[in-house]
Amino acid sequence: MKSVTAYIGLGANLGDSAATIQAALSELAAQPGIADCTASPLYRTVPIDTDGPLFINAVARIHTTLEPLALLDLLQTIENAHHRERPYRYAPRTLDLDLLLMDGIEMHGERLTVPHPRAHERAFVLRPLQDLAPDLILAQGSLSALLAACADQAIQRLDTV
Ligand code: ATP
Ligand code: MG
Ligand code: MG
Repeated sequence: MKSVTAYIGLGANLGDSAATIQAALSELAAQPGIADCTASPLYRTVPIDTDGPLFINAVARIHTTLEPLALLDLLQTIENAHHRERPYRYAPRTLDLDLLLMDGIEMHGERLTVPHPRAHERAFVLRPLQDLAPDLILAQGSLSALLAACADQAIQRLDTV
């Protein structure tokens, strides 16, 4: 496959979340088939769909020659290496890696939906995405308009990035 741009959402709220996100960013950048990994700043966010500790979130932009499902496999391999467990939906997690967007790809499969169906309603995705791609327009609207609609979601940029 030719190289395309993709955006990966990273999140963690168990263990040393900031260290896990930094490690996952390095691991992502080092994968065969992935180039030019650019990370947003890190953010501290209040859990949206669950309770538990505060999250650390970020978004990474990559260029990749991987097919979408191969990229998902790789993201899940990195999650598993960080002991990701799924005792129930939206459980607190050591690491979550979601494929948010991939240039030219729209799919709704058993294992993978792209663009990510809930990205547009989450400040913890939209805010770091805006750092990387301020002019990006999602199917649901501009990042600034979508962010205005989730102004009630607490999010704080970390200075130490
Ligand atoms: P959410 O998708 O709402 O952020 P989550 O990230 O907590 O929830 P997971 O437990 O990480 O959900 O993933 C559940 C399943 O979602 C995965 O096994 C994967 O096959 C599927 N999935 C579908 N679309 C995507 C996507 N775009 N990125 C990552 N996983 C996806
Ligand atoms: Mg997720
Ligand atoms: Mg996930």
